[in-house]
Amino acid sequence: MKLTWLFSRRRKRTAEELRQPLKGNNFVDIKEIRNATEINIKKMTDSFPEDLEKLQDDFFLKIEKSQLSPLKKLEKLYSFMDEVYKHINKYTTCKKGCSYCCSYYVTISDIEIQFIEQKNKGIKRKEQFDTDKKRVGTPCLFLKNEACSIYESRPYVCHRHVMFTPDNSICTEDNAHIHKLQLLAWPKLDKSYNLIRAESGSNKLHDIRDVFPKK
Ligand code: SF4
Repeated sequence: MKLTWLFSRRRKRTAEELRQPLKGNNFVDIKEIRNATEINIKKMTDSFPEDLEKLQDDFFLKIEKSQLSPLKKLEKLYSFMDEVYKHINKYTTCKKGCSYCCSYYVTISDIEIQFIEQKNKGIKRKEQFDTDKKRVGTPCLFLKNEACSIYESRPYVCHRHVMFTPDNSICTEDNAHIHKLQLLAWPKLDKSYNLIRAESGSNKLHDIRDVFPKK
């Protein structure tokens, strides 16, 4: 199976940082983690029931041709991802109770805001969104007892994000901003998501904490 990889390094590492062992990690160095991650990803892709890229292609074409409303299309996209992730989740280190990624930027568009409001009674956006606040290190307001309280309607980035590292110690704030991580790229899913946003009439992205009031 042909898959596309995305390498992400959030900032350039200093020589001093490169010499440091990973904080709180059982693995000796980043190479060991990368090797274990590659093996894990290979196991996932080798055992994938159908070609992932073809599934993405077919889904994008269906969404593009469909006359459904953007909200319904978003629901279809999330359902499709839930199906695909049933397989992928067997190989990830992401588990209920781990929430490091909920303390990073969590981008959300207008159609996703509408979706959350529609699916969760009593949740309404702020009249005026906040802006320019420091977000990294502040847990998402929907994180309750280390679990997502709007899991079914969580934003696209939360549906999408997944790690194949052997454990979650690379995800801590100490480590995640330093080391180059291997992530699965989803070009056609991103294309579907971008199409839905464009059809909704608003492409603007916000951070989730700027949009909803904390209860
Ligand atoms: S919406 Fe849920 S999954 Fe996404 S950052 Fe917030 S708590 Fe985490």
